[in-house]
Amino acid sequence: MSFTKVSSRVLNELARGLPADRTRRNEPLALHTYIKLGGPADFFTVVKSADELAGTVIDAEEAGVPWFILGGGSNILVGDLGFRGLVIKNEADKIATGRTEWYIPRNDGLVTVTAESGALLSQLASFAIDHGLAGLEPFMSVPGTVGGAIFNNSHFRPSQNEFIGNLVEEAEILFPRATLDDVSSMRSARNPRSLRRRLPVGEKTKVLSGSSSMISETPSSVRPVPFRVSRDWFRFSYDYSRLQEEKAVVLRVKFKLEKGDPEELRSKSLELLKQRNSYQPIGSLSCGCMWRNPKEAPAGKLIDETGLKGIRVGGMSVSQTHANFMVNDGTGKVGDVLELMARVKKRVKKYCGVELEPEIFMVGEFSHENMKT
Ligand SMILES: Cc1cc2nc3c(=O)[nH]c(=O)nc-3n(C[C@H](O)[C@H](O)[C@H](O)COP(=O)(O)OP(=O)(O)OC[C@H]3O[C@@H](n4cnc5c(N)ncnc54)[C@H](O)[C@@H]3O)c2cc1C
Repeated sequence: MSFTKVSSRVLNELARGLPADRTRRNEPLALHTYIKLGGPADFFTVVKSADELAGTVIDAEEAGVPWFILGGGSNILVGDLGFRGLVIKNEADKIATGRTEWYIPRNDGLVTVTAESGALLSQLASFAIDHGLAGLEPFMSVPGTVGGAIFNNSHFRPSQNEFIGNLVEEAEILFPRATLDDVSSMRSARNPRSLRRRLPVGEKTKVLSGSSSMISETPSSVRPVPFRVSRDWFRFSYDYSRLQEEKAVVLRVKFKLEKGDPEELRSKSLELLKQRNSYQPIGSLSCGCMWRNPKEAPAGKLIDETGLKGIRVGGMSVSQTHANFMVNDGTGKVGDVLELMARVKKRVKKYCGVELEPEIFMVGEFSHENMKT
């Protein structure tokens, strides 16, 4: 891990432009992660709309301050030394509430619903069920935000093809780095097609109309604009979307859903919730599944077979309920997680010959040597 010191002058200047009542210095990230671990962020700010999210990312990028988008914090392990730069907590959670431009019934019988990326998946699923829209019921009980779900193509029962990516029609995303020069050239050339050719964003990318408020009138300070990308752009696969490789931020996502009966959808989602509660340590402090499922067998099964269920390091243990989860008894430390991960990985390699890969994302700075998990 590289230890980058961000100039406090630059940080303070950036922070002056952020809303004072929603911005804090040295905020412990343990307060914002499901596993309740993680050191402090130099600065922490909460955004309440997709446009504010875009503006904050652009400001940080232009100031040269490292930034990180925090959704529900349910799939990350933050280092004990925290994050040098700005953590942007995404609470942009607008979802269609009626027959507006956000909620469009179509001739093919499908209905599209658009959600800002900070909306909770449970909130979105509940909205869809209330409006008699089918498809999101399995995600009612998956923690986290729409943005986090798209980042990792969240799933419920992969064997039944229940991936969030399957429901996406298109999304609005921001490329805070790639577009700075390109947008300038577009403005001078006034030719969006030349921009499309130059951006590393795939064939179906469009410059969004109606977002002109984000383009400065002064050519020398032109700011990046959001782009609309189709589902194909994401290259969704198991635990993967292209966002993991591109420095891009999801602002809004348009889902296409079928019509259904609200009562039936509600009872289906409750049934799925019951199923989940029976085999996951719901209510415990965790990051969800720690490891991607290798092609040989589910990671939890391999860990279980090597006799590691219940093994403990400090305040962390491999869950007795589901061996792919590690749970914090409230006294766990980041170092305990890393050591436990190293032990599990080594044992599964030795007894099963399988190299486990973390599903969780490591964020920020870690002081521990066993970081190479
Ligand atoms: C008890 C428990 C059960 C779980 N069960 C499941 C399950 O059944 N299926 C499943 O798939 N997952 C499951 N998970 C994992 C987790 O819920 C999902 O991966 C979730 O989608 C993560 O969303 P988040 O908002 O919490 O993301 P975070 O953990 O906050 O962030 C994860 C990554 O996404 C990035 N990100 C977040 N928002 C954006 C954005 N707007 N634009 C760009 N990048 C962004 C972050 O920067 C980070 O790199 C579970 C987790 C827990 C704790």
